[in-house]
Amino acid sequence: MSLEPNRKAELEFNKLHKRLRRQVGQAIADYAMIEDGDKVMVCLSGGKDSYTLLDILLQLQAKAPVRFELVAVHLDQKQPGYSPEILPDHLRGVGVPFTILEQDTYSVVKRVVPEGKTMCGLCSRLRRGALYTHASLHGFTKIALGHHRDDIVETMFLNLFHHSKLAAMPPKLQSDDGRHIVIRPLAYCAEDDIAEYAAAKRFPIMPCNLCGSQETLQRKAIKAMLAEWERKHPGRIENTFRALTDVRPSQLADRQLFDFVALGARGERSDAHAWLAGEASEETDRPARAAAVAAASGLDILEA
Ligand code: SF4
Repeated sequence: MSLEPNRKAELEFNKLHKRLRRQVGQAIADYAMIEDGDKVMVCLSGGKDSYTLLDILLQLQAKAPVRFELVAVHLDQKQPGYSPEILPDHLRGVGVPFTILEQDTYSVVKRVVPEGKTMCGLCSRLRRGALYTHASLHGFTKIALGHHRDDIVETMFLNLFHHSKLAAMPPKLQSDDGRHIVIRPLAYCAEDDIAEYAAAKRFPIMPCNLCGSQETLQRKAIKAMLAEWERKHPGRIENTFRALTDVRPSQLADRQLFDFVALGARGERSDAHAWLAGEASEETDRPARAAAVAAASGLDILEA
């Protein structure tokens, strides 16, 4: 017997809701994101991700065995077309304490970034600066951001393809100035799940591109690549994310992360290694070169 469409949709939503709550709870526990007595500033952009973050954190706060404070903080960047009442109305309805900061970063970005170039990099930096300053002034112990699993995987590929490094976006980090602990409780959540949840909850989404800017072409290309992979091979994004939680330094090639030199070494670093690294002159004689190559490859050279 098939379920009525409404009942089926309700069951699906309940499953989605439970999954998101479980994933957020798991990420918080795995990375010790929130502790008893924390004062958490939840950064709210007005997009689907930060609305979902706040919503799930409030649910967990109501049930958690530890006591922590949540305050939603939003920065009005004075973009054209911005509706100042949307967020306060929503937050008052939810019953969460909130602060709306105001700073005209829009004019700054418009002035500094050449026409036609993406403004998101500078805009995000200015926004981050304003929010972090607020966190310092008001004694917040944690700053919660709405980045999710797909953001983390996209960032990893951006770093891989364009910056030759294996780095992503950590679920928890210390800000560059060492003054803040930033947490990403949605780190285990899929973007599609968040989008579905936000649509079902009818959050009053405020588009981030009021300013007319677009995310960079590089990020767009990575998003398209991942979407195509996921369509052809479902589970690939999740597998990539899980790989970030299971790093094997000895299976990579980073000498800072794993001491390959010490591996099987029988003594001090030999001159042969220095020569191979280009530290000897071109005049080095043939026998010495042969010995160096052999030493580096672990072979013994027999005198002719
Ligand atoms: S789309 Fe506009 S508001 Fe959003 S980050 Fe980019 S520049 Fe800033």
